[in-house]
Amino acid sequence: MNFENQLDKLYIGSGIVHILDAINSTIAKENVLVIDKSPFILGAWHCIDLFGIPNVENAVHYLLPNDDGYNFINNFLKIELSNCQNKFFARNILGRNILLPYNNPITRIISNLDSQPAVNQNLSKFISLTKNPSHHQTKYPKKGALEFTNRLSKLCSETNLNLMSKSSIEHISVLPGNATVVVRGREYNTKQLFLSHGFIPPSGFTIDHKQVYLNLKKHKRPSIHFYLESESNLVEQDQLRNYSQALFPRNSIIKYVHELTQFLPIQNSHNSKYILVVALRHDLTNTLENRSAVLKELENFKLIPMISNCKKIDYFWQDIFLPMLHDSDLFDLQDRSFGVIKPMFTDELCSSIGKYSLQWNHLKKFLNQNNLFTSIH
Ligand SMILES: Cc1cc2nc3c(=O)[nH]c(=O)nc-3n(C[C@H](O)[C@H](O)[C@H](O)COP(=O)(O)OP(=O)(O)OC[C@H]3O[C@@H](n4cnc5c(N)ncnc54)[C@H](O)[C@@H]3O)c2cc1C
Repeated sequence: MNFENQLDKLYIGSGIVHILDAINSTIAKENVLVIDKSPFILGAWHCIDLFGIPNVENAVHYLLPNDDGYNFINNFLKIELSNCQNKFFARNILGRNILLPYNNPITRIISNLDSQPAVNQNLSKFISLTKNPSHHQTKYPKKGALEFTNRLSKLCSETNLNLMSKSSIEHISVLPGNATVVVRGREYNTKQLFLSHGFIPPSGFTIDHKQVYLNLKKHKRPSIHFYLESESNLVEQDQLRNYSQALFPRNSIIKYVHELTQFLPIQNSHNSKYILVVALRHDLTNTLENRSAVLKELENFKLIPMISNCKKIDYFWQDIFLPMLHDSDLFDLQDRSFGVIKPMFTDELCSSIGKYSLQWNHLKKFLNQNNLFTSIH
């Protein structure tokens, strides 16, 4: 086995926050290495090639409200965020399927009543019903998640980030002051080992010669991408709604749907291709019956063309699990590892970027001095 020089920091996983943190340390001239088993950077946020189309959003994504996060993404990564226009609540009211504009106080009352056990006449409650539920006040890159890939790939190459992809961790052993990580038969020694919520422990993982057992949690979040192709432009014929997102009520088999064609250069004069991704109720499984029911529900709300008008329909089902590790697991690893393991709390992207960006002074200075990205303004 070869012995590598001592690293200052080793990151397992090349998710967005790890990459940015590692780049910040690289600029500060620390000896840093990022290892990922995947061929792609960005973890859960990498785009995928689907239905013969490159760079499709891989899931229903959103950036929850966090001012520091929005500020870093907007002003340093120069990614233009939009307030998610054309966002609707999909509701069946008096037997009619309607899309209610999300940014409207009356709509919020109706949509919030879905989740209220009883209508309370109390005035303050009434006022709270008119307020935006915080999880609905999201932003998103105007040009889609590919913006993260483009920005971070450029940053990686400009700063010569030391990154090993397609590399599965074989063993981790932590002793006071040092962690040794074995990859492709080589040992890497580091003073600090960074692990985040997306970390999947290898079978060989010891701290102070004792095997680490982590009880990985599995919160199922199934999703399905649909590709629909029609003979001609059906927007008018089928009275298709112009939407970006639609949120369904709690009892629906659909949680929410994102229209993805808006991010892809596939529009042609006929506008005949439609791609969308649907977040599904947790217990839904990949059966023909369930897929048909989801399509029917989307058709009922005019979120897709009439199924009978489509010459091709394809799908891609994913059983996504979120997150495998909890905060308590990461705190526990930090405590047991004499502080060698540095947890990064990444399960919610925007707040995580907000939190850690406050420490990314080298990166922010680098970005201010080097005009890497075309200004968005
Ligand atoms: C499909 C999906 C969609 C999501 N959408 C959102 C969203 O819209 N908004 C939001 O706030 N959060 C979302 N999340 C939550 C997500 O966990 C965070 O946004 C963020 O991506 C977590 O960052 P991470 O780096 O910890 O994990 P990830 O992004 O999952 O990246 C982990 C990386 O580590 C690598 N890795 C793990 N273990 C090992 C190992 N043993 N050896 C080598 N490499 C390893 C993986 O290959 C992966 O590339 C989503 C999660 C998933 C799975």
